Amino acid sequence: MQSAVIIVAAGRGSRMGGEVPKQWQMLAGKPVLAHTLRAFAGMRVVLVIHPDDRDRATGLGVELVEGGATRDASVLAGLRALEGSGVEAVLIHDGARPLVSRALVGRLVDALATHDGAAPALPVTDALWRGDAGKVSGTVDRANLWRAQTPQAFRFAPILAAHSAHPGGALDDVEVARAAGLDVVIVEGEETNLKLTYPGDFARAEAILKGRDMDVRLGNGYDVHAFCEGDHVWLCGVKVPHGKGLLGHSDADVGMHALTDAIYGALAEGDIGRHFPPSDPQWKGAASHIFLSHAIGLARCRGYDLGNCDVTLVCERPKIGPHALAMQAELARIMGVDAGRVSVKATTSERLGFTGREEGIASLATAVLVKA
Ligand code: MG
Repeated sequence: MQSAVIIVAAGRGSRMGGEVPKQWQMLAGKPVLAHTLRAFAGMRVVLVIHPDDRDRATGLGVELVEGGATRDASVLAGLRALEGSGVEAVLIHDGARPLVSRALVGRLVDALATHDGAAPALPVTDALWRGDAGKVSGTVDRANLWRAQTPQAFRFAPILAAHSAHPGGALDDVEVARAAGLDVVIVEGEETNLKLTYPGDFARAEAILKGRDMDVRLGNGYDVHAFCEGDHVWLCGVKVPHGKGLLGHSDADVGMHALTDAIYGALAEGDIGRHFPPSDPQWKGAASHIFLSHAIGLARCRGYDLGNCDVTLVCERPKIGPHALAMQAELARIMGVDAGRVSVKATTSERLGFTGREEGIASLATAVLVKA
């Protein structure tokens, strides 16, 4: 199911105090929203902002939509921005919940296979009282009571219709969905998925961020393809005119193969040959972006995102320099990451060895994966 996320960040955060709205305040050295975005890396993100925050938001590198006067209006603006884009599932998330995990996002999307909507919540475990003038005036039965969180996930067309028809004033999107008769399943939420509301919440969130195990994984890849007859080579997803071709079962994109193997290596998941056996005729002549997309997809399923990668091509010719920026952009596009996280460079081997004799091209790659 093609999915996207709307992050609602147009509020002014009046309970937090301070000049800067809470979603733009700094948390562990970064704006709150920069943390929030991490769990959604690789997905289409629509960030709904207040018009005054446009300058702040531009640096985040996601699609911006200006919100309305109320939360409902802001969500509807986000939904309309996705209309007609082929998105089938949408997650609607409050920007002030920066600690949402990728695992929770995955559980919500999975639940949409069988429900119109899915939302995270935790059962109420504390006793609940009513209070009056500082004294307990009664108790409330906590059975069947839940603490609702976001993101709340929905099939796209029904939630767009529900929001379009709703008169406004809903507390959250589940309320809007239910008003339209949609079924919403409760998915187990996370204690750490805090909503930053009061100043003390920042200290709690920073403590949780510090306590999270830093899980960084490094992989390397190496590949060689021999030259053959031909008039071009594919290198890092770019077709480069050359007096020879590269011999291989697929398109022989030696740079992309090394990078793909580096990602598999970081995951301890073998190499391209394990996932796409050369004995299987369906991969003959295959475009190598299929392999790279699979590797980065597998990383994201495991909760990792690409920290950065570095690819080195070793050849005398063709000259890589004129194509390096296009290669960087193409690899970044395939993996759904900023180009600043992707390096493509080249060296010759001073005419020594098989690359020096122009018998083929070698490539080395390193990839770092970081737990989101
Ligand atoms: Mg290869």
